[in-house]
Amino acid sequence: MQVQGFFFGVKIATLQKGHKHGSSDTLNPKSAIRNPQLLRDNHHRPVNYLRLAVTDRCNLRCFYCMPEEGIEYLPKAELMTYEEMLRIVQVMVRMGIEKLRITGGEPFIRRDMMDFLGEISQLDGLRQINITTNGVVTAPLVPALKRMGIRSVNLSLDTLDPRLFHEITRRDDFHKVMQTLEALLSAGIATKINAVVMEGKNDGELLPLALLSKDNPVDVRFIEEMPFNGGDAHYDQLWWSHQRILEALRSHFPGIEKIPDPPYSTSYNYQIPGHRGTVGIIAAYSRTFCGTCNRLRLTPQGMLKTCLYDGGVFNIKNLLRAGATDAQLSTAVLEALGNRAKDGFEAERQRLLGPVGESMATIGG
Ligand code: SAM
Ligand code: SF4
Repeated sequence: MQVQGFFFGVKIATLQKGHKHGSSDTLNPKSAIRNPQLLRDNHHRPVNYLRLAVTDRCNLRCFYCMPEEGIEYLPKAELMTYEEMLRIVQVMVRMGIEKLRITGGEPFIRRDMMDFLGEISQLDGLRQINITTNGVVTAPLVPALKRMGIRSVNLSLDTLDPRLFHEITRRDDFHKVMQTLEALLSAGIATKINAVVMEGKNDGELLPLALLSKDNPVDVRFIEEMPFNGGDAHYDQLWWSHQRILEALRSHFPGIEKIPDPPYSTSYNYQIPGHRGTVGIIAAYSRTFCGTCNRLRLTPQGMLKTCLYDGGVFNIKNLLRAGATDAQLSTAVLEALGNRAKDGFEAERQRLLGPVGESMATIGG
């Protein structure tokens, strides 16, 4: 492996004066380090966001993510240890990653997760840590998350009907998830609700879920279902495209208005007049957001993915276990960024793994 100097088209540009970075924005209030770099890929897209899947294990069996019998979990020795994750994140933060999302599998069923979060929240240079959780065991942890400085959590919730929740997740934990929602709202942690829209399952839940945004400051985001379910494709076409989701929302709320999307947003965002929160639609299967994609992914076994739809570019944990220095790890990441597919369609075509179909629990969403 090449260890220095060749960036394969990747640009690291010095930030322009006036770009808002630095200690007031960092998660760690002690941090005085200003991130000096702006990482770009070979298509000139800034890359400043890492999604870290800390486990492939899960306590639910969501229809769209896993078969009922579950998936074959990775042997424990294949999972990155916390020390390995910390080192890799540290290296990537030095390269320009500013925002980290902790995901899984279900992050909170990994032992000592809160200790890991405590450590990672002290990293210099990291401006934001967000978490995606199914909420089953999360409610009692919310006060500690708040103390750590976690400002935003995405909660997966596909229905407000306990019977349908059981049908979709194959577990009877609806009330625990609702307790987590309440705990997040009372702690004042910004909360997004992720709902995958499934033909013949929860397509009648768009209205009740959107109504959550009426009295609560939540962003309810409806996601196109993708074929990452650890089994066979559920349908031969995308039934609930982003356009159809919008039409359905408009039929319930004729006054729904488009609002500006934040930079790098994967969702189209809308305001329903009179609602405290917002609604959003994520065209995850149609892939309309690739042109501004700013994210990298690390799977639980350490595969770096430069696109959700690729099969993994290289295994950074293996490199680390083989004794790579921080500089070697950085160079390998830069090399991957220099060869990034231009969009999810190209990444899917280039997969060596075979067609998309692995469980999302092995990727992190
Ligand atoms: N277990 C956590 C949870 O469910 O929030 C975190 C991991 S989960 C894989 C991350 C996100 O991926 C969830 O919001 C889930 O709804 C979404 N997801 C999983 N499978 C999906 C699929 N086939 N299509 C679209 N979204 C999916
Ligand atoms: Fe588990 Fe999240 Fe996948 Fe549901 S979506 S099975 S909660 S990893």
